[in-house]
Amino acid sequence: MTPSPHLNNPKVYIDTDTFIDLVSKRTRCLICCEPLNGKVANREHVLPKWILRKYDLYDKEITLPHDYKARQYGGHTMPCCKDCNSLLGKKLEQPVRQLTQGGYAKLQRLLDENGQRLLFTWLSWVFLKFLIKDGAIPINPDQRVKAVMQDKDTDWTTLHHIHCLARSPYTGAHLSPEVLGSVVILAIDDDRYREDFDLITVHETQTIMVRLGDLAIIANLSDSGRSMDIVHRFVLPARQERFTVLQALEICADMAVTTTRIESKPVYFTRIDRATGQPSIHADLPVYEANPVDPDTRAAIFELVYREHLPHLKIAGSDMSALQAIRENRLTFLEHRISRATGEIRE
Ligand SMILES: [Zn+2]
Repeated sequence: MTPSPHLNNPKVYIDTDTFIDLVSKRTRCLICCEPLNGKVANREHVLPKWILRKYDLYDKEITLPHDYKARQYGGHTMPCCKDCNSLLGKKLEQPVRQLTQGGYAKLQRLLDENGQRLLFTWLSWVFLKFLIKDGAIPINPDQRVKAVMQDKDTDWTTLHHIHCLARSPYTGAHLSPEVLGSVVILAIDDDRYREDFDLITVHETQTIMVRLGDLAIIANLSDSGRSMDIVHRFVLPARQERFTVLQALEICADMAVTTTRIESKPVYFTRIDRATGQPSIHADLPVYEANPVDPDTRAAIFELVYREHLPHLKIAGSDMSALQAIRENRLTFLEHRISRATGEIRE
């Protein structure tokens, strides 16, 4: 079969090997893949400037899940050329800012099909930037790309897919409905936390939670919505309108856990229309089967998600530490689960 003339044309699509090369060498723009030089080089903030400004985060320290080194949000940037920086600002950041700036109630009113795609693309971009910055993608200063490609622990295929989503404002790729992952949007009402912003990522399951004031958005980027059934049946309370930060984190952690249970992951691919050259992203969905929860995996994900809160958490009426409760899968902040939390949480 003759390869498509568009294959590995960065304007529409790059393959997985080219993606690995791109993120491991970091000498090219992450969006257009053009070599960076003094003339065009710019810095793309891992957290967009409108969030840094709105929540006064420039000088605040960020804790990354993998290297645990605190750095400042404001100095947290990625290689990106000036043109792509402007393009993402116009096509992604400004519309997402408009969608989210009125908080939970306004987002619920505004969120149509296009808004869902936009939000999902934005979450993919933020997730990918954090992943790269955190060192979860190995840096390869010697340009020994083969060694990076042989890194067995990194799910390159899935990360490549998330990169395809993230740069879709540049390629113009259409996202088919089956590509969109599980998304839960919560109203937050919590006067115990002064901070108005939270960002949590579980790299291994491609799960992200962003909280902007009274709005929390939790998403699995690579499950094609397959966690939603379990999340609705066993995690989300049937009738609860507002959530605390700790409750939202529990929903985020359990959404990540749910992803680990999926027997066969969706297979994502880009199709390029031969006549128009227009790319579109699709998924083949294998028959859905959920494995039982692995208690050790669940505990590890909860520990990761609650890591910043653990030193301050106390369990009422018990000598048990929060960490111990997590390791025994007994920690819950959701009231409908509390009666069951005295034993292992089961579904
Ligand atoms: Zn660029």
